[in-house]
Amino acid sequence: MAAEERAKSEFNDILSRIDRKYEIIDVKWTEDKLFEIKFRTQIQRNSEDFNALCDEWVDVFSEVTNTVWAKKISNTGPKIRFRKQYQCWTQGGKVVQKELLFDARRCKGTLDIKVLTDNPFTRRKNKHIRLGLNVVVKINFVHLHQVDTSKRFSFFVHLCDPQPEPPKPVIQPNDRLPQLVAEMVQKGLNASPKVVNPNPHPNEQQTHVNNERKEQTHLFQTTLLDELEEKPLQTTQHQLIQENLQLPNMQQQTIQLRLMEVN
Ligand SMILES: [Zn+2]
Repeated sequence: MAAEERAKSEFNDILSRIDRKYEIIDVKWTEDKLFEIKFRTQIQRNSEDFNALCDEWVDVFSEVTNTVWAKKISNTGPKIRFRKQYQCWTQGGKVVQKELLFDARRCKGTLDIKVLTDNPFTRRKNKHIRLGLNVVVKINFVHLHQVDTSKRFSFFVHLCDPQPEPPKPVIQPNDRLPQLVAEMVQKGLNASPKVVNPNPHPNEQQTHVNNERKEQTHLFQTTLLDELEEKPLQTTQHQLIQENLQLPNMQQQTIQLRLMEVN
């Protein structure tokens, strides 16, 4: 049986144990790691306290599946009447400890309930609302490891062991480069604002050079070079930084320094 068919059948088992109408919209497994299910079900119509009604549905779902869900956010919007999101508690026990909720080494589960607008107009227009299916639930289980999807209820994350290390974020090596260069140039400018000369004409330069400025220029260049050495970057990135540092201000500095050396 395909993984999705299996999961759908298992969710049918789960949802049929909750005494509410339901209709599964979609079930998806991606790379044996990411699971998503969307289904319609119902909350009572005789109350406007959607917050409590959503919590009530999640409580029953918790009981049936032996999972614990932390309440995260609730909000409303122009298109939906009410929305509430929950996060699966994966550290064991029934008591959620907020400080442990975002453990990067653990697989993650989120549950999102949207309450649809239920009035005579939407009932006429939307057959699901007419049938009493007035909420849409989306559940995502994000595993940090490959899952054997042929195992029963393999989508759940609350029984997964934590990973030895949190997954490394995927960073493109050169992403921070423009920022690094900008920071270095700015530091250089701040360190010796007097040295920056908008008009590095050789003749003018020679007349204004004095010992103090010579010292400052040396210092400035040394600092920048030190910084280049310190950056833990690979050789290719290193070269790139140096190329990028051929900015007008730096060129002025170099010209100045050369002129001073000639003197
Ligand atoms: Zn897992």
